[in-house]
Amino acid sequence: MQEPVIGIDLGTTNSAVATVEGGRACLIPSRAGGRLTPSIVGLTREGARAVGLAAQRLAEVQPEAVVWATKRFMGRRCTPELVQMSRLMVPFPLIAGPTGDVRVRLAGRALPVTQVAAMVLGELKLDAEACLGRPVRRCVITVPAHYDDNQRSATREAAAIAGLEVMRLVNEPTAAALAYGLASGFEGNALVFDLGGGTFDVSILEVKDGVFEVKATGGDAALGGEDFDQRIVQWLLAQVEEGFRETVGKDAVSMRRLKVAAEAAKRELTEYEETLISVGDLGDHTGPGTPRVTGVETVLTRRFFETLSEPLSRRCLAVCESVMREAKMSPQSVDAVLLVGGMTRVPLVRRLVQDFFGRLPTTELNPDEAVALGAAVQAHELATQSGAALLLDVAGQSLGVGVLGGRVKRLIAKNTNVPVVTRQIFLPGRSGQAEARIPIYQGESEFQDENHKLGEVVLRNLQVGYRSDIQLEVTFTLSSEGMLSVRAVDLKTGTVEQVRLEARNSLPAPEAQKLSQEQARYASVQSQQDGRRAEEVLRRLLERGEKLSRMLQRTAQESPGVEARFAVGTMRSLLDHGRVALQEGNIEQCARVARQLTTVLTGRPA
Ligand code: AMP
Repeated sequence: MQEPVIGIDLGTTNSAVATVEGGRACLIPSRAGGRLTPSIVGLTREGARAVGLAAQRLAEVQPEAVVWATKRFMGRRCTPELVQMSRLMVPFPLIAGPTGDVRVRLAGRALPVTQVAAMVLGELKLDAEACLGRPVRRCVITVPAHYDDNQRSATREAAAIAGLEVMRLVNEPTAAALAYGLASGFEGNALVFDLGGGTFDVSILEVKDGVFEVKATGGDAALGGEDFDQRIVQWLLAQVEEGFRETVGKDAVSMRRLKVAAEAAKRELTEYEETLISVGDLGDHTGPGTPRVTGVETVLTRRFFETLSEPLSRRCLAVCESVMREAKMSPQSVDAVLLVGGMTRVPLVRRLVQDFFGRLPTTELNPDEAVALGAAVQAHELATQSGAALLLDVAGQSLGVGVLGGRVKRLIAKNTNVPVVTRQIFLPGRSGQAEARIPIYQGESEFQDENHKLGEVVLRNLQVGYRSDIQLEVTFTLSSEGMLSVRAVDLKTGTVEQVRLEARNSLPAPEAQKLSQEQARYASVQSQQDGRRAEEVLRRLLERGEKLSRMLQRTAQESPGVEARFAVGTMRSLLDHGRVALQEGNIEQCARVARQLTTVLTGRPA
């Protein structure tokens, strides 16, 4: 039987995992209950790990023992500016790792954010394995469309630590369009408006004859639900008694309480016109003795929340305008607007979209699940090569090399279809140079300073001569998932340099290896527990199944017929299979029968 493959939506706030079974993409439930896994990771004082729902619960009693929204820091360099900006978003401090990577302090350890992501990915892997009853290794992971090379590479690194093999990284909006297009048979121009917990992406795709071609994509890496929450948090903080305000603003426990209340209020306002916010026990929780505490109690109306959110709404619209310009399309030429990401439930966001595009958004998609389902569809497609859907994505950002005058010479323009290969000849900066360094930049500005430096091509042992005699050919290869590799050749000597992008701040190899061993040990203990739990669940389901079977038999005796006989036969065979699976200790079979029994007993898929 073919090895199962999964699709993973690694979100800022929540993550989800899906697979394709019987030709249909379906979400895999979390072992802790629920369809989504909060992207929260915690370590207790004793060093025990809590991920997802367990970490969310831990946060209620020990807010300093958890970290969340770390996706925003993936693949970034831990610069003073980032540390400063993070203070407005999260109460936990960021620290720099040995390669300049971002780390968070948790239970006395400095965890790389890639490890935090790996812990979430590892949990989703375990959920999939528990549901399918088999080891799962291969996956498709989605990333924001505007993710740069470092962020993509960090996502791959996190997957490797989690013991996953990434078949392909797919842009989140593209995955959502894929899920929608395949499920509904849609053809035309689809616009995906993806506002999640931490990031905002807009993509426009043309869907025709099973080909999903991205026309343009754009986004704002620092715009999402967290920012809307922060607007409320700052408003609440301003209402704290003056003598306490500064203390509360610096206290992690208090700020976590305000953040939780703000997020809950935002959700309430999706349903109601106003909401009461009441947060107590705010003060200094770090010092010894009983803290001096205060609280806030206030009413937030939907209208005032919308006023608070005004600057964020304007940023959303600016992105839509720029993507429409890049696709050379008008809002009227969009045939379907797909909403993705939890924040698109907010009435203000729906209104913005409706006013801008002059049409109601499509509501068939579940905004929290579409991305994972699309990722599963793509994983299945890559595994089976069935040809049902072909994805043609684009470069999310322009790529070029630094030239004289602090400028950038663009080799690949934003929104060029990928994969793509481009070449260009460069001359060394001056005559008599034995070594040439060509910096590589990602971004939209024509100035190096305003772009993101990815690395440098370093060609050594050039023949010393006149500048114009030496021709350096630089080749950029951008893969279908947006990863760049660079090659440089000195055309005179034939010296070739396959460039390692030095700015990729990946973890030192021994550390990455240590982390994956740690993850493997944790996963092995968990899967043994999951195996025992699967048998236990099946035992309970078999008991309920026996009762149903007896009922079906009675019905068949009272009103005999083909249908009744068939129902009895199906049920008996399912129960027999379940008993055999238990006897043989076949976890995969136990999981499969448990899923089928759940469907029969509850009338809905497990
Ligand atoms: P995602 O990253 O797609 O899971 O989006 C999560 C974001 O959506 C968080 O900021 C949530 O607070 C927000 N969100 C989810 N459901 C709702 C809702 N019903 N009303 C308002 N915001 C929501």
